[in-house]
Amino acid sequence: MSYIEPAPIKDKENPFESMMSRFQVAAEHLGLNAQIYNVLKTPTKQVIVGLPVTMDNGKIEVFEGYRVIHSNILGPSKGGIRYALDVNLDEMKALAAWMTWKCAVVDIPFGGAKGGIKCDPRSMSAGEIERLTRAYTMALQEIFGPDRDIPAPDMGTGPREMAWLMDQFSRSNGMTINAVVTGKPTVLGGSLGRTEATGRGVMVSTLVAMEKLQLNPFKATCAIQGFGNVGSWAARLLDERGVKIISLSDISGAYYNKNGINIDEAMRYRDANNGTLEGFSEAEKIPTDELLLLEVDVLVPAAVEDVITIHNAHNIKAKLIVEGANGPTSAKADKILNDLGILSVPDILANAGGVTVSYFEWVQNRLGYKWTAERVNRRSDRIMKDAFNNVYETSVKYNVSLRIAAYIVAIDKVAKTYEYRGGF
Ligand code: GLU
Repeated sequence: MSYIEPAPIKDKENPFESMMSRFQVAAEHLGLNAQIYNVLKTPTKQVIVGLPVTMDNGKIEVFEGYRVIHSNILGPSKGGIRYALDVNLDEMKALAAWMTWKCAVVDIPFGGAKGGIKCDPRSMSAGEIERLTRAYTMALQEIFGPDRDIPAPDMGTGPREMAWLMDQFSRSNGMTINAVVTGKPTVLGGSLGRTEATGRGVMVSTLVAMEKLQLNPFKATCAIQGFGNVGSWAARLLDERGVKIISLSDISGAYYNKNGINIDEAMRYRDANNGTLEGFSEAEKIPTDELLLLEVDVLVPAAVEDVITIHNAHNIKAKLIVEGANGPTSAKADKILNDLGILSVPDILANAGGVTVSYFEWVQNRLGYKWTAERVNRRSDRIMKDAFNNVYETSVKYNVSLRIAAYIVAIDKVAKTYEYRGGF
């Protein structure tokens, strides 16, 4: 079968403005003092660095690296590092602010930050990525620190890059400082359960939301966009709990099997196949954009920003959307989904399982102690459920969507902290 792949539809909404428009609605519900509003809409620090790196061919290439700290009023700032070609300052600012709200929603004592390097890690060797990661760490060593700013993995990075970052930071300081970064390999002090944590949080949020909608997991179907760390773990853990995953996608396209896809099989295939599902024959290939429009109970966008937009929101048939990615729904699409009666569990709640277990990793590193996987999972599941219920009750109290309710919960905590701390 051959078909012409439609170009991905993008809304071209500026991600920072998209975040701010939700912020504004929540701020109005809270009657937020205009001065605090101004403080919160401005990131605390924005750093751009030039990173010269010797490539394998002997030539020096200069990469651009970013770190934006949106707020550190609740504690050291926390947030991942993204390696991708489209990394830019506006995206970093939005993602950093989302981290502030995310940490506040799950009530962990961190502020929000995000970093990234404009690069294409898929076209680079391991040695080049290592040199780039070390250059980035050196350039930001005054910013990073267990009590200052704590990076973690995001798109295009994982435990390997976190190990290099930890090593470089430790070398520069003359001692091992593993609490400077989370998402490390477990031998370096990484937490058990961190790899699957974001997907696990997505699974917990999905099941709690299904309960509210009286959807039976054993009769439900689900489509998941993105088969990276978040999407694949969400798929596996939902599948284990009876939800039938009928469609998956990654950069190679979308795959569909009405009888359900064997997720273990798909993960094994991907791992043996250069990280993609290209050629996966247990499911039929469908046009990529159709995944979002399938007749399913649950839709999990777990890839990139701005995929549910005014161009396709009208045609979404899912009853429940659980945002594994950061910012997958554009601000303008929110209203369309609400009008259609689709329940959306917003990113800053649904994907907060990752940063929650990052917090546990930091706690364990500082204690010099290791928790069992059982303790990590039990505690993170409880935090996710409590956060969901808190957001749900707030949505009932203010008569708003779960997204605006999550912003209300988060902004209220951050604003109160500013009011108590004062010092302007
Ligand atoms: N990059 C992840 C996120 O967007 C994890 C951040 C962290 O663990 O600090 O939530």
